[in-house]
Amino acid sequence: MFEYIIVGSGFAGCVLAERLASEEHARVLLIEKRNHIGGNCYDHHDEHGLLVHKYGPHLFHTSNAEVFHYLSRFTSWIEYQHRVLAVVDGQKVPLPFNLNSLHRLFPRSMAESLEQKLIGHYGFDVKVPILELRKQEDAELKFLADFIYHKVFLNYTVKQWACSPEEIAPEVTARVPIFVSRDDRYFQDKYQVIPQHGYTRLFENLIDHPNIKLMLNTDRREILQIDPDSRQIRCFGQPFSGHLIYTGMIDELFDYRFGELPYRSLKFQFEHVNTDFFQEITTVNYPEEYDFTRITEFKHITGQPVPGTTIVREFPQDYDRLDSRRNIPYYPVFQEENLKRFQQYFEFAQKFPRLTLVGRLAEYRYFDMDDIVARALEVYRTQFGKGA
Ligand code: FAD
Ligand code: UDP
Repeated sequence: MFEYIIVGSGFAGCVLAERLASEEHARVLLIEKRNHIGGNCYDHHDEHGLLVHKYGPHLFHTSNAEVFHYLSRFTSWIEYQHRVLAVVDGQKVPLPFNLNSLHRLFPRSMAESLEQKLIGHYGFDVKVPILELRKQEDAELKFLADFIYHKVFLNYTVKQWACSPEEIAPEVTARVPIFVSRDDRYFQDKYQVIPQHGYTRLFENLIDHPNIKLMLNTDRREILQIDPDSRQIRCFGQPFSGHLIYTGMIDELFDYRFGELPYRSLKFQFEHVNTDFFQEITTVNYPEEYDFTRITEFKHITGQPVPGTTIVREFPQDYDRLDSRRNIPYYPVFQEENLKRFQQYFEFAQKFPRLTLVGRLAEYRYFDMDDIVARALEVYRTQFGKGA
């Protein structure tokens, strides 16, 4: 009955469902184990009427015009430029750490001297990963690198990843570079927007097609089995002759045959506060104090004119698939050994001719929303589109 079964209704699953149904007129069964669509980008109104992001703050930013224009068919947008402050020595300074942060923390003459050194070495408007800055031989820059490393990166990274910045792939800390600039925005992408009616509405529009059948509250394991020997996929006990697109955890798909892949999980603590605003900006990071990493206040994103405000604190924690308090795999852990294990799974998956893996969990990658939309569009084009 279905030509495609897609597991997971996040961006990876929904974009592919939309493309296949709209462009190929294919019949698609979309399976989702949660009671809602949208994956980790899901948002909803809380009991106080505030639009909140259930699985952590999601800010859309991209320089990819194709992704932006594609999604614009399913939502209108509100312009929103994200800004973050980090608490350093009791002061709130712009993050990524930039020239303004420098001047906020050091006496004027010292800040000016450090600024000249940074511009002299790197130029203006340049982003320098902290692990690069730490390689500096210059005594002043070395001092600055050590300062930022210890005050902004070390403890935050230990909280987030349970290891030091050196023990995780350098791309992770490079996401928040030192920015030799006075631009206080968290991202510099061309398009910085949020869906006017929320992410969930965007997802509803994406899969609003008669050829897409959605099954919520359905774990793939209940209806789909994969036989590793015959390479056969069975659905409801019958051989499935169509194509399976899987966006969940790759180790789970293959019954952990090469061992478990590590993930980091998070606990979100939401709180409603009876004041107009809780903090001066959307997100404040706490690299040093507290067990949580950051506090986000949603009203700054949406601009909703409602009384009271809702905030969320993020507490990183170990992932454990057998413990319902910590069994959501938010982040793959980007360490060499884990990437090697992923590669084993990936090579094994290649043996299944009618199986495609897409997504943060299936590909064990750090995809932002625009990356995963771009990836799903590319997979569609190269594997399933008319020219494929
Ligand atoms: P997901 O959204 O995780 O979707 C996978 C879906 O598959 C889920 O709904 C899951 O329930 C379902 N599933 C899994 N296994 C099964 C199964 N066995 N059976 C049925 N269903 C299954 N990106 C940004 O661009 N900006 C941000 O500000 C941002 N903030 C983030 C904050 C946090 C805390 C996190 C964790 C991520 C953030 N991201 C952000 C990244 C963003 O969430 C991802 O890019 C996006 O969710 C990836 O989409 P996906 O479809 O690959 O995965
Ligand atoms: N990071 C940090 N201190 C901060 C912010 C970020 O050390 O105040 C590091 C940390 O290792 C984090 C990484 O930079 O995991 C990427 O941060 P980002 O804000 O991109 O994380 P995400 O939003 O993906 O959780």
